[in-house]
Amino acid sequence: MTRVLLTGGSGFIAAHVLESLLAHGHSVVTTVRSAQKGQQILDSHKQYGKGKLDFVIVEDISKPGAFDSAVVSDSPFEAAVHCASPYHFNAKTPEEIHQLITTAVDGTTGILKGIKSHAPTVKRVIILSSYAAMVDYGKQMTHVYTEVDWNPITNEQAYQSAPFAYLASKTFAEKAAWDFVKSEKPSFTLTSLNPPMVYGPVIHSLSSLDSINTSNVRFVSLLKGSPSTPCPPTVNYLFIDVRDLALAHVLALEKPEAENQRFLVTAGNYSNAEIAQIIGEEYPEFKDRMPVGEALKLGERPATGVNGYDNRKSIEVLGMKYRPLRESVLGVVESIKGML
Ligand code: NDP
Repeated sequence: MTRVLLTGGSGFIAAHVLESLLAHGHSVVTTVRSAQKGQQILDSHKQYGKGKLDFVIVEDISKPGAFDSAVVSDSPFEAAVHCASPYHFNAKTPEEIHQLITTAVDGTTGILKGIKSHAPTVKRVIILSSYAAMVDYGKQMTHVYTEVDWNPITNEQAYQSAPFAYLASKTFAEKAAWDFVKSEKPSFTLTSLNPPMVYGPVIHSLSSLDSINTSNVRFVSLLKGSPSTPCPPTVNYLFIDVRDLALAHVLALEKPEAENQRFLVTAGNYSNAEIAQIIGEEYPEFKDRMPVGEALKLGERPATGVNGYDNRKSIEVLGMKYRPLRESVLGVVESIKGML
């Protein structure tokens, strides 16, 4: 059993990481932005006592010293998993872009600094980075991405659009984490997980579908759409199921071979048209809302190609097994159809 600090337990992915950590017998304290969010998490895990699951409030991860008290626990932490970071494409003005980037970067370096200064018992830190920190739009789409790839985005490019701002926030945050380890030589090791699009059951508390996390927005659009609504463009043809990604965090924390490594964690290619096709096959009640006239198979897109990838490291070192797209689609739809 490992005592783990998990950041952002109210988020889509972190909620699954929490489940996976608890299922593996670890004890978890998760950071949340408010007592209400923390209480919601405790209320949905009544089977666990405070010694096994608790929360601590970190209102804004970007504030200096935000994690200084959160990293200290009566029963000292041995590991930390950092998932809290903004994921949206709403940063349009230079001020908003600056804030998005500094929140991602300062949130990541903030927890590393906090651990180094106040939590010497922490030996392992896992950070949830992204394929966004790997993708290089200057390369052919079919380039075979691996753990050696880095997004070459510059600070100047980050200010050109909201998607670029997000890509930069993840790239700069992950770079800052590796730079910290190199220059500060802390007594913990670092592992980064770099997933592409993440789909699967929504288990965190949602007030309405308007606040669904960014990657699952396309499911809401499809389920509320009509055949004449165009299929949302796929953009990034790689995915992973959120349950597999959650397990990857736990395996990264448990396996010594994962120390000081990056992992591209992906099940492989997919397209939004395939998601629509699966929904139509599995849910007759939604079939007549799915877009028509789109290429349905990845192989039917030779003109643009799809993102190349090599996920062997995650399979060989972490022992990952990946769910197929159909399971992820069923997971999302089952979890949100009652809220439509
Ligand atoms: P969510 O929006 O569901 O989760 C984001 C989490 O970060 C929430 O817990 C949120 O808190 C917290 N957070 C954001 N800003 C702050 C802040 N300033 N201070 C404190 N907490 C903050 O997104 P996901 O779960 O999908 O994403 C989580 C991470 O995974 C992000 O870093 C994202 O970049 C990365 N990722 C996601 C992918 C995906 O497809 N979903 C793909 C690849 C990477 P609150 O709930 O209170 O808002």
